[in-house]
Amino acid sequence: MIMLAGDDRAVMRLIDESRSGEGRAVYATTLRCVFCGTEYPLIHRGSCTRCARSGEESALHETLAVQYDVAALKRRLDRDELARRPPDLWRYRELLPIVDPAFRVELGAGGTRLVPLTRIAEAVEGRRLLVKVEGSNPTGSFKDRPIGVAASVALEQGARGLACLTSGNIGSAMSAVAAKAGVPALVLLLADAGLADQGASVNVEKYVQISAYGARVLTPIGNLGHLYAFADRIEAEMGWAFLHNLQAYQTDGDKTTAFEICEQLGWQAPAAVFVPTGTGTNLFGLWQGFVLFKELGFIDTLPRMFAVQPIGAASLVAAWETHQAVPSALERIEPNLAPPISHRVSGYHTYQAMQESGGGAVAVTDGEMLAAMKDLASYEGIYAETASAAALAGVRHALARGLLDTEESRRAGIVGILTSHGLKNSLALTGVFPSPPKVEGTWEVLRSSL
Ligand SMILES: [Zn+2]
Repeated sequence: MIMLAGDDRAVMRLIDESRSGEGRAVYATTLRCVFCGTEYPLIHRGSCTRCARSGEESALHETLAVQYDVAALKRRLDRDELARRPPDLWRYRELLPIVDPAFRVELGAGGTRLVPLTRIAEAVEGRRLLVKVEGSNPTGSFKDRPIGVAASVALEQGARGLACLTSGNIGSAMSAVAAKAGVPALVLLLADAGLADQGASVNVEKYVQISAYGARVLTPIGNLGHLYAFADRIEAEMGWAFLHNLQAYQTDGDKTTAFEICEQLGWQAPAAVFVPTGTGTNLFGLWQGFVLFKELGFIDTLPRMFAVQPIGAASLVAAWETHQAVPSALERIEPNLAPPISHRVSGYHTYQAMQESGGGAVAVTDGEMLAAMKDLASYEGIYAETASAAALAGVRHALARGLLDTEESRRAGIVGILTSHGLKNSLALTGVFPSPPKVEGTWEVLRSSL
């Protein structure tokens, strides 16, 4: 693998176009801030320098989006061409920023099922509900998409190692990619509810999984804002990539979820999409994906985008209900059963996607998430992390408020994104599902228990 730095990449891109055998491979043009419109070259790192905020609040302005040459893409790509390719992340390679196939980390991300629900009550009543089962990605969560793309970009840009600050799923995805690419990884693992406090505990399943991939895992204690500042130091002093600085490319990975949904629905967008989310970057990425597919003429309509967050950690819901386009940071996060979608701040980009699409944001309780998790598992055979099941809880909220019972919803369908697998947080649920009782191993006893 050739390591490049800085502007040398531009030269490499030109070389690779002829070497890759995939035709002209560069359709990404610039990074554009969706807040102020400033454009940056593709090698720019971090946020928009005009809008950036420091530390944890940087999530408010993760506003850079990769722009593409849509006219050139229209000439190169059509629906038949896409349909012929293997169902994984790199099926959409022209719509992703990676150039040289040698830098694509192939873990088998993407190509997840879009499942029509048939047995839960709302489906039985005749509504068209579907779930995108992202827990079947290689490391068990949707993060294999954004991290797979962002890490590949980092490696192409010459990163000698990968680092991140995470409550778990980003760490698993990044560590697996680092293992496959043969580079070291550092995971700063936050405790429950995205806290860096001394008293909070980390998710056992997640640190075991991350450790198994061979990453160095540390649970830093201290101010979250200060921890984010490590991003620049680890890049400057060690030559590693801190994935927080590659947000725009993570967003591009999230787009592939939207692309797949459209293909799986017969080149149509659903009426609405429900995304469990913390800072909201995945919702923004999906929206960007739907918009790009429409610009390319692959679909005719766009869905309404809804964010789902836990009550007590619902920064987007607070912003939505008070028409606050740039959400302010919550004072604190109340402990809840959905740490992956608990974050004090959410982004302007997400608010904009909700607004442009005519969607919104809904907050759900622990009880509602648990009920949704149990229903998905016991009626549909799908075991999702509690934070993921928030998608169904959010759909139920919107149905109860009359936001979705339209002809469009019945025809085009409502999609919930089940972001991660239930095995990611089983230990937290031993209170819900107690140990099985020990009984005498005789037929009479077994028969009498049924
Ligand atoms: Zn800006």
